[in-house]
Amino acid sequence: MKARRRTGPTDAVKAIVHDRDGGVCVRCGTRHHLTIHHRVNRGMGGAREEWINQAHNLLLVCTVCNGWFEDNPRKSYERGWKVRRPELPGEVLVLYADGREYRLTPDGVRSRSVAATR
Ligand SMILES: [Zn+2]
Repeated sequence: MKARRRTGPTDAVKAIVHDRDGGVCVRCGTRHHLTIHHRVNRGMGGAREEWINQAHNLLLVCTVCNGWFEDNPRKSYERGWKVRRPELPGEVLVLYADGREYRLTPDGVRSRSVAATR
């Protein structure tokens, strides 16, 4: 077996993200064609940072929305689906398909933001 550097999340982390997000796409709520989306991209050397592949940097999304994020970066940053360095994924709230914003933690907890201003 060749020694390869792991660049994606472990199966255990993927399972945590799947459970946390209820088995549906974070943006549109579909149960079909789901994949794991990185909020902060694994950029140059990004995979060296431990949090890149932790639950708070990952979202369960469908392949359609995953492409939408790339086509609509401004809206994606506003809604927390994408996070721009130097902001960290634990600091930026995420809008879910229920219309509410949540804060995510590395261990897979999703909590309502208390300081919602709307
Ligand atoms: Zn979707």
